[in-house]
Amino acid sequence: MRPLFVPFFIPHLGCPHRCVFCDQEKVAGARGVLPTPAELLSRIEEYRAGAPGRSLEVAFYGGTFTALPPADQEALLAPLQPLLECGLLASVRLSTRPDAVDAGRARFLRERGVATVELGVQSMDPEVLLFSGRGHGVAEVELAVAALKEAGIAVGIQLMPGLPGDTRERSFATLRAALALRPSFLRIYPTLVIEGTELAERYRCGAYTPLALPDAVTLCKEMLVAATCAGIPVIRMGLQPTAELERPGTLLAGPYHPAFGQLVASEICFDVMCALLDGVPAGSRVSFGAPSGRVSDLVGQKRGNLARLGAQHGVDASVHEDAALDPELISLKWQGGVRYARRPDLHPQH
Ligand code: SF4
Repeated sequence: MRPLFVPFFIPHLGCPHRCVFCDQEKVAGARGVLPTPAELLSRIEEYRAGAPGRSLEVAFYGGTFTALPPADQEALLAPLQPLLECGLLASVRLSTRPDAVDAGRARFLRERGVATVELGVQSMDPEVLLFSGRGHGVAEVELAVAALKEAGIAVGIQLMPGLPGDTRERSFATLRAALALRPSFLRIYPTLVIEGTELAERYRCGAYTPLALPDAVTLCKEMLVAATCAGIPVIRMGLQPTAELERPGTLLAGPYHPAFGQLVASEICFDVMCALLDGVPAGSRVSFGAPSGRVSDLVGQKRGNLARLGAQHGVDASVHEDAALDPELISLKWQGGVRYARRPDLHPQH
């Protein structure tokens, strides 16, 4: 079982400036204040009591951890050391910027029990990085990944398709470059326009147009399949919905959906179901089998996949759960027999 995250949000702490798209306080609904040692320990205890026997992983998100003053980094990590030593805490992860990582900082993190670092890479295109006000280039990403791996730390890469200057081609070139670095996982967050950011001003004056939701879903679907085929898991697509993010006036524009990842999964299932219907005559009654817990992926939001299958293939489609089905497969039962196909986003990792 995966460890349970004990999250601590430290919005913008350590950040050298605000990137044009970013407002972590609005996204996470938290203020940028470092937790005290007592707060750290009490939240860990709360999670431990709520999930007895489950291993715990502390996660510091929302800022640039490795650019905090060294004393602050030490103040956050030191109280965790006894818990790591006695096994009450399995590990620590944190997020940071690529240009705030070097060999020395990576070694320091490893010595303090940090097992995973998530790098806010966003793009591997120099112009996109420039237009997004990131303040670093591609070389810093490559150096950061190498330093972290050398220190024995697992690296996650966060990408943001749809940033200023980005195109479909550039998003895929970014993905290829990120995959070539062989991270342990990716997160993909299509760019949103958050009120109060520089991107919001550019959007208002017509200098920036975000991805439309259907385009973002299609792009992310293709990126997810490519990453999976390369053996790199994508552990999240689309921002976590928070009350703050969904408060009227926070989100100005962009491809937001509270269940964005499920939209992507449903699109993938739709493609697989269409392939399974090859040669099935219009007018047929068909039933798709979904592994346990996957029925809604096949049915789609508001039963949209079933309606589209009817419109595009002329079939009367339904979905049933098949608990005995391999979790990576989808089945099709019709008058001509039974067929199976594999979901391309669920290939075993190599
Ligand atoms: S994207 Fe990262 S580095 Fe840029 S302002 Fe946001 S948290 Fe800070």
